Amino acid sequence: MSAQSSPAHQASEAFDVVIVGAGFAGMYMLHRLRGLGLSARVYEQGGGVGGTWYWNRYPGARCDVESMQYSYSFSDELQQEWDWSERYAPQPEILKYANHVADRFDLRRDIQFDTSVDRAEFDERSNAWSVTTSDGRTVSANFVVLATGCLSNARKPDIKGLDRFKGPVYHTGNWPHEPVDFTGLRVGIIGTGSSGIQSVPVIAEQAKHLTVFQRTPNYSIPAHNAALTPAERQKFRDNYPEIRRFARWEARNGIYTDLPDRGALDDGDSERRAKYEARWARGGLTFMSVYNNLGLDKAANDTAASFVREKIAETVKDPATAKLLQPTTYPIGTKRICIDTDYFDTFNRPNVSLVDIKASPIEEITENAVRVAGHDHEIDTLVLATGFDAMTGSVARIDIRGRAGRTLNQKWAEGPKTYLGLMSAGFPNLFIITGPGSPSVLSNMIVSIEQHVDWIADCLVHMREQGLATMEADVSAEEKWVAHVNEVAHGTLYPQANSWYMGANIPGKPRIFMPYIGGVGAYRQICNDVAAKGYEGFVLGRAAQPRRAAS
Ligand code: FAD
Ligand code: NAP
Repeated sequence: MSAQSSPAHQASEAFDVVIVGAGFAGMYMLHRLRGLGLSARVYEQGGGVGGTWYWNRYPGARCDVESMQYSYSFSDELQQEWDWSERYAPQPEILKYANHVADRFDLRRDIQFDTSVDRAEFDERSNAWSVTTSDGRTVSANFVVLATGCLSNARKPDIKGLDRFKGPVYHTGNWPHEPVDFTGLRVGIIGTGSSGIQSVPVIAEQAKHLTVFQRTPNYSIPAHNAALTPAERQKFRDNYPEIRRFARWEARNGIYTDLPDRGALDDGDSERRAKYEARWARGGLTFMSVYNNLGLDKAANDTAASFVREKIAETVKDPATAKLLQPTTYPIGTKRICIDTDYFDTFNRPNVSLVDIKASPIEEITENAVRVAGHDHEIDTLVLATGFDAMTGSVARIDIRGRAGRTLNQKWAEGPKTYLGLMSAGFPNLFIITGPGSPSVLSNMIVSIEQHVDWIADCLVHMREQGLATMEADVSAEEKWVAHVNEVAHGTLYPQANSWYMGANIPGKPRIFMPYIGGVGAYRQICNDVAAKGYEGFVLGRAAQPRRAAS
C-alpha cells in the first residue's frame, strides 16, 4: 500500500497515512501504523505532544478518571513501569507521561510540530488526499486520520467589550507555558464547568480577590485526591488484565468499578442515602454508577440530584451563595459531572465572591471590570473557563473536501453525520478518532481512543490484504446509524440539558446529541461485528485497473 510509488501523487511528499493531531489518539495511531510497515506523518499545531495536556495548563488541571485507568493499555511494559504519583495525576505529570511515550516509542521523528493541517482534498482519480499545511506545503496520502480531539477548540465567549479589557486574559484551554502568578491580584473567572471548578480553589488561594461569574451551576463530586501508595499501584498492576477487560466490555463508560444491580427507587430512603454517602466519601466519577437508572429515570435522578444539593447547602455557609451554587435546571449527570477539590468550600473564603450571570447576564467588559446589572466588578486579570466548540470544532476548522468537492462543513451544517463515528459518507479514506456518533466523550477517552485506533489499523490491514484502494461509509448505513444514535440518546435524560454534548454552548450550533450513549462494550461489539462481516455498511473499492490499449 505504499503511496510513495503512486504516479498519481504529484505532491512534494507522499505517505500512506497523514494523521492530524499528536494527542493520545494521534500518538497511538502513529505507533500502530509503524508496526504495520506503513508510512505516516503526523501534523500537530502545538509545539509538543500530549494534546489536551499540552494546552490545558491552568491551575488545578488534572484528570478526573483515575490515572491508573486514564493511561494507555497497549503496552504492558509501559503500564507496569510508569509510576503515577496521585489518584488523579496533575496536568504536568500527564504531559510528562505523553512525552515519555513519545520518546519510548520513538514517535517524534514522524511528527511535524507547530504545523496545522488547513485543507484536505480528495482526488477521485488517484484515490488520494492532498493535504495542505500551514507552512504552505501540500503532501499526498492514501488515508487521513483526524486525531484532532473533541475538546481542542477553545471557545472565547462573544461578550461585548472583551477586547477592550486592559489586563491579561487567559483561556483555560490555551494556557500560557510560563507560570501565571495571581498573587495580590483581583481575578475574575467566567465559567463554572470542569475547568472552572478545578481552577477556582487554586486561584482563590493566590489571588487578593476572586470573583466567579456563574451562568449555570454544576453538580460536582469531591475527588478525594491523594498520593498513590506503592501497594495501591501494585494492586492495579497485578489486576490490569481484568481491569482493562472490564473497562472495555462491561463498564458503559470505560471505567472499572462495581456495577449497580438496581435502580434508585428500589431502595428505601435510608438505604439509598447510605449508598450516596458511601459514594460521596469514595469520591470521583463513579458516584453516578451507584444505581443503574440515574441517566434514565427522572424520579431516580432527582434522588441523587437532591443529595448533591444538600451537600452543597451543608458546605457553603452563606445560604444565598449556597442556593446559587445548587443546580436545579437539569438532571444530574446530563452535563458532564464535575470532580473537585474543595470547590464549594472555596466560597466560604472571605476573598471569593459569586456573581449570578444567569439572572443578569454580563452587560459588558470594560477596561478594568466586568459589568453586571449596572455594577462594575473591578478586576486586574480575567480567566475564561468557557469551554470548547466540542466534538466538531477542530474538524470544522479544516477545509475538508470529499467526493465532487463537497465540504464536510456543508455536509455537517445540520449536525454531524457519521457511520459509527468513524467515517462520513462521501469522504473516502478519511477516519475520525472518537468522532461524533461514537462513545467518545462519554467514556474514559483512552479506552475509546485505543479501540478506534486498533479498529482502523485492522481495517487498513484488511484493505492491504484484499488489494482495496478505497473505503467509505455507505449512505444508508450512515443514516441508520445516525437514527440509532439519536434514538438511544432520546431514551435517556441527557438531551434535557443544554450541554456541550448537545452543541448548546455554541450559539447557532445545531442541537444534536453528538456522542453515542449505548456504552463502550456494546459499541465495541457492533464495530467488531461490522468488521467480521467484511466491513458491513462500508463501500470498499478497488483501484481502477490501467486501461489496455485497443488492439
Ligand atoms: P487532543 O488531546 O485534544 O489532541 C488533539 C490534538 O490535535 C491537539 O494537540 C491539537 O492541537 C491537534 N490539532 C487539532 N486540529 C489540528 C489541525 N488542524 N492541525 C494540526 N493539529 C491539530 N478525558 C478522560 O477520559 N478523562 C479525563 O480525566 C479527562 N480530563 C480532561 C481534562 C481537560 C482539561 C480536558 C480539556 C479534557 C479532558 N478529557 C478527559 C478529554 C481529553 O480530551 C481526552 O481524554 C484525550 O486527551 C483526547 O486525546 P486526543 O488525542 O483524542 O485529542
Ligand atoms: P464547559 O463544561 O463547557 O464549561 C464552560 C463554562 O463556561 C460553563 O459554566 C458555561 O456556562 C460558561 N460559559 C460559556 N460561555 C459563556 C458565556 N458566553 N457567558 C458566560 N458563561 C459562559 O467547559 P470546560 O469546563 O472547559 O469543560 C469542558 C469539558 O472538558 C468537560 O466537560 C470535561 O469533559 C473536560 N474537562 C475535564 C476536566 C477534568 O476534571 N478532568 C477538567 C476540565 C475539562 P453554561 O453552563 O451556562 O453554558
